[in-house]
Amino acid sequence: MSARKRELARADRVLPGLWRLRLPLPWPGVPHVNAFAIAAVDGVVLVDTGLHEPGAMRQLELALGQAGLAVEHVRLLVCTHAHSDHYGLAAPIMERSGCELWMHPNHEHMTKAARDPERAFEHRLEVARQSGVPAAVLAGYEAARRGQGFGIAEIVLPDRRLLPGVEVDSDLGAWQVHETPGHAPSHVVLHQPERGLLLSGDHLLGRVSLYYDHGWSPDPAGEFLDSLDVVDRLDVQLILAGHGRPVRDARALAQANRDAVHVRLEGVRRALAGGPRTPFDIVPEIVEADLPDAMMVGWGLSETLCYLRHLERRGEVAKLDAEPELWALASEEA
Ligand SMILES: [Zn+2]
Ligand SMILES: [Zn+2]
Repeated sequence: MSARKRELARADRVLPGLWRLRLPLPWPGVPHVNAFAIAAVDGVVLVDTGLHEPGAMRQLELALGQAGLAVEHVRLLVCTHAHSDHYGLAAPIMERSGCELWMHPNHEHMTKAARDPERAFEHRLEVARQSGVPAAVLAGYEAARRGQGFGIAEIVLPDRRLLPGVEVDSDLGAWQVHETPGHAPSHVVLHQPERGLLLSGDHLLGRVSLYYDHGWSPDPAGEFLDSLDVVDRLDVQLILAGHGRPVRDARALAQANRDAVHVRLEGVRRALAGGPRTPFDIVPEIVEADLPDAMMVGWGLSETLCYLRHLERRGEVAKLDAEPELWALASEEA
């Protein structure tokens, strides 16, 4: 098999009336995203969409076809959050099936940013500059990422706000909405209490993989920790995650995520114990240090900024008056 050949989409039946649709992604280390089709009267509820890219609708059709389904059978589209791999194909799915989109109202981190991609990118560059990213590294990041787009077919807004109290009906019973911001401000999980099923999106994945949208809410890392407690309060027998295989032990997974966040917060404290540092100086302390520059600037820096913000709100660290910005342990500043 040629190395260029991409994995094809496929459907796995998880339970009678519930299919996991594995849709290929072009991202290193993230080979696919899961959408889920749940039988509902004369069609299905589709949870999440796959990324918009050339051939993506064909891949979705392929996976649905293996489950004996077609895009036209989608009666309702529900997105766990407004990231491109979970929301990117919303527009063509709605157009083909005539279905509604239900999604959490805090979706501006995608829908507002995607309205002006150039401006959103300039803003990211400015944040990176202020955070102490050296000019040469920043130039490399810019070359790698400028003009990359958002991976969504079209900006579509939800027909219904997916908030607690809203139920998504299916042949497997009603699914209840729980807000789980942190990974993204728009993140929700869907819980089916009688069967102990949880559609967890990217909030809980089979392996710990932390990511936060920076700049759209006051304290993404703190929100994520609170959202782990939300899942702990639910009866969960099986987690249907946005990437990877279904997993069983929700409490252990939540705890592993909590532990990983605390290790990283400790990394930030340790980095600052030696004196004031820029956010970018701290990145290698909390992520694997051999990541490509573009990932250090994109993902690693966002995560670091979120931890600094969290510790600042707790009174542990403070931003000094400097350009680029410097952070210090709060005791040093006094
Ligand atoms: Zn996501
Ligand atoms: Zn995802």
